[in-house]
Amino acid sequence: MFDNSAASNARRKLVLGNWKMNASLAANLTLLEGLKKNIAGLRDVCRGVIVPFPYLAQTQSVLAETDIQWGAQDVSEKESGAYTGEVSASMLSDFACRYVLVGHSERRARHRESSELVASKAATALKAGLTPVVCVGETLAEREDGRTLHVIEEQLKPVFALGAEQVGKLVIAYEPVWAIGTGKTAAPEQAQEVHGAIRQQLASLGVPKVPLLYGGSVKASNAPQLFIMPDIDGGLIGGASLDVGEFSDIVRAALEAKPGSGGQG
Ligand code: PEP
Repeated sequence: MFDNSAASNARRKLVLGNWKMNASLAANLTLLEGLKKNIAGLRDVCRGVIVPFPYLAQTQSVLAETDIQWGAQDVSEKESGAYTGEVSASMLSDFACRYVLVGHSERRARHRESSELVASKAATALKAGLTPVVCVGETLAEREDGRTLHVIEEQLKPVFALGAEQVGKLVIAYEPVWAIGTGKTAAPEQAQEVHGAIRQQLASLGVPKVPLLYGGSVKASNAPQLFIMPDIDGGLIGGASLDVGEFSDIVRAALEAKPGSGGQG
């Protein structure tokens, strides 16, 4: 069985595919079988799929004997109880999830999730042994106002308040809201500027190696330029993760890019 925790001395890039609310049993089977064929057994890159809750069992059953990981798109900040419609971290653990997204911009915007709530969700997920992927990013108006770094710092403040030990177990995804699902990708230098600033904050907390993913219209054609940036440790891929060939090529681009400062151990 592949050891995905500490097998490699090099820090490996991480590529996660966020299916969002796009799935069906039949379509998933084709996608997962395709991924198994194309990207299972690649030792020097970590990769996974982030699927809607109802398909966790199917994903677990298809990927169980592979080194491709899986996870969920959200989690409750509560551990259990009278919270109709919520899904707990321990439920995700029951399906052997490794990752869970918290604070995706679609949830921050549509469900008014605050950065404090996002930090609570991350803490609850960590307690259950999951790896939270904390998503942050500025809107176009915030970027145009020159407030990008301030917005990211504010979004991360409650998360960093969890303390270095907890923060050291997270993955952080920088996803400019204006680049998500729009076909507009941040230029590699724009993404690097934000990743570099987050890295500095992590370094001052004593946890510089936290993996920093970039997300926002990443495709096979732009992934290589993004992944060579020193503080981009991989990608969170939305639309392109629904296409086996496209997602497989993005994973290969990560494999070919040199390890940066962070990444998965
Ligand atoms: C996302 O949903 O996290 C995302 C980055 O989407 P897309 O790649 O489609 O922009």
